[in-house]
Amino acid sequence: MSASSTQRRLARPQSSARADAARTQSAASPPRRTGWWAGAVVLGALLVAVVFVALQTPERATPAQVGSQRVVPERYDAERAFGYLEEICAIGPRISGTEGMHRQQEMLLDFFRRQGAEAELQSFPARHPLSGETLTLANLIARFYPERPKRFLLCAHYDTLPFPDRDPINPRGVFLGANDGASGVAALMELSHHLNELPADVGVDMVLFDGEELVYDNRRDPYFLGSTHYAREYGAHPPAIPLRAGILLDMVADAEQQFYLEKNSWHYARPVAREVWDLAGRLGVRSFKSRVKHEVRDDHLPLNQIARIPTIDIIDFDYPRPGPRAMSYWHTQQDIPENCSGESLAAVVYVVHQWLLTK
Ligand SMILES: [Zn+2]
Repeated sequence: MSASSTQRRLARPQSSARADAARTQSAASPPRRTGWWAGAVVLGALLVAVVFVALQTPERATPAQVGSQRVVPERYDAERAFGYLEEICAIGPRISGTEGMHRQQEMLLDFFRRQGAEAELQSFPARHPLSGETLTLANLIARFYPERPKRFLLCAHYDTLPFPDRDPINPRGVFLGANDGASGVAALMELSHHLNELPADVGVDMVLFDGEELVYDNRRDPYFLGSTHYAREYGAHPPAIPLRAGILLDMVADAEQQFYLEKNSWHYARPVAREVWDLAGRLGVRSFKSRVKHEVRDDHLPLNQIARIPTIDIIDFDYPRPGPRAMSYWHTQQDIPENCSGESLAAVVYVVHQWLLTK
């Protein structure tokens, strides 16, 4: 995706210290400038409290009781989700039209079929931006419960940028796209384990877009090839059961997760954005911040503008953290699994799944 530089400049700076403070809110701060006796009293009180809590707590505390870091129930499996992200990254770069992408497609077709979906590739031709040759790209569509009348779109892009063009050291190096590429796919893979709990009339179409950023020159090459093709097909041949709303997941695995309301989502699909962020608030998932920030051009634009499916983008554009002088791993060689987290994936899966359960 690309972001408007104006909007990025206008974004209110937020210090990394504040973000760090928010993440570690549950940690008690030590008493300062007090005598040894005060320390002893505090220590004693803490000890009593710990013993009391230990006696009161059933054999296993539910995650919601533990603190802000553990509001996500354990069945949204952070380890499994992170395993998926690593499995995708182990393929190497997944640039549109390359062997890496083909291997990923085979792996995912097999995976989603085993998860019970009707999965297929939606192929389309595209011009290679450098060589001019015609490539065959393909979106991957996995339909769960295709006969059900209330359908929702969950999507992500699964191609990776050809080069880490914002890398300060080696902009022609290897771009792995752990967050920008693998994270949305890994989240949908984890989510597929929970779809057997949907309301009886709710079905899901998962769509992985190819050619989101087959971009060598961002002033010249077109973005969103796969989502544009999908949206045009959807408009030209509307399905018997329309998609009521959509959620795009992009850059959702940042170890320092923070999701702001994205401007285009707010413009095109405000009711959906409100539902999701309000729900996240009720669930206590604090990485969803109820403030509009960042205008991101992403696959949700063709879905809203061409297919007219009200679709929001859940995206953490501050990777790893906000601030005008903060470093960014976006489109660099630092976009690797080590800078991502399974807990972040589980948190977004939890919110999206719970949103589906309200339908
Ligand atoms: Zn990107």
